[in-house]
Amino acid sequence: MLQSLKQDLIQKGCQFYEHQPITGFDLKAGRITGLASHPLTIPVNQVVLASGAWTGQVFRELLPAVTQIPAIKPVKGQMLLYDAQPETLAFMVLDGDHYLIPRRDGKILAGSTVELAGFDKSTSTTTFDRLNGFAQQLLPSLKHYPITHHWAGLRPGTDQGIPYIGRHPEISNLSVNAGHFRNGLVMAPASAKLLVDLVLGRPPCIAAEPYQFSSPH
Ligand SMILES: Cc1cc2nc3c(=O)[nH]c(=O)nc-3n(C[C@H](O)[C@H](O)[C@H](O)COP(=O)(O)OP(=O)(O)OC[C@H]3O[C@@H](n4cnc5c(N)ncnc54)[C@H](O)[C@@H]3O)c2cc1C
Repeated sequence: MLQSLKQDLIQKGCQFYEHQPITGFDLKAGRITGLASHPLTIPVNQVVLASGAWTGQVFRELLPAVTQIPAIKPVKGQMLLYDAQPETLAFMVLDGDHYLIPRRDGKILAGSTVELAGFDKSTSTTTFDRLNGFAQQLLPSLKHYPITHHWAGLRPGTDQGIPYIGRHPEISNLSVNAGHFRNGLVMAPASAKLLVDLVLGRPPCIAAEPYQFSSPH
């Protein structure tokens, strides 16, 4: 999905600066006028911060004068990937926080943990054993397939699982689209549509209120 989106945006004339952390914002009269990303300084009109689990950190480190900071914390999730044959599993299986997801090429994803461990993306053998135990109990034929990948990602968690999608109350040309916890891919198209409506001052496609800074998250 991301590869298609990127290609579509390139064809529409968007320019990507990849692997370029933002290291500073130029602020003038309550507006961001430029982004610093060594060695570049990029002039800007509108800024959307979509920095996932790092969004609170970006505010604290790069916009220290701002008082309203999204309460987003990293929530680690570890996963395993089995190199299985197509048709080993016909459907996704959900079991509480855990799941098995067959991919079209036959590989099966087993996930996932929900861990509060700060910005640590390391994996552990205990979790490997636990996820493998869960997966083999649900689908014993997985014993015959190698596990080719074990990794962790950081979900952007909020207390109530509600993302921030809206304009920042203190900086006139800054918006935030972050905090989607376990559903960032599923919610991405609707979140983007809502934020575009808000930035362009159009009637929002869905009720915007629950996602604003002033609402509980
Ligand atoms: C194990 C696991 C399974 C999941 N399964 C699903 C699923 O099945 N369905 C689903 O919808 N969601 C799922 N999610 C959740 C989904 O991955 C997240 O909700 C989604 O990635 C959030 O997207 P985002 O763009 O807001 O943040 P991210 O994808 O985290 O992207 C934020 C980006 O900001 C960058 N960044 C941070 N600081 C800076 C800076 N200073 N300058 C520039 N860039 C910066 C980071 O490097 C990162 O690339 C899963 C997550 C995990 C961990």
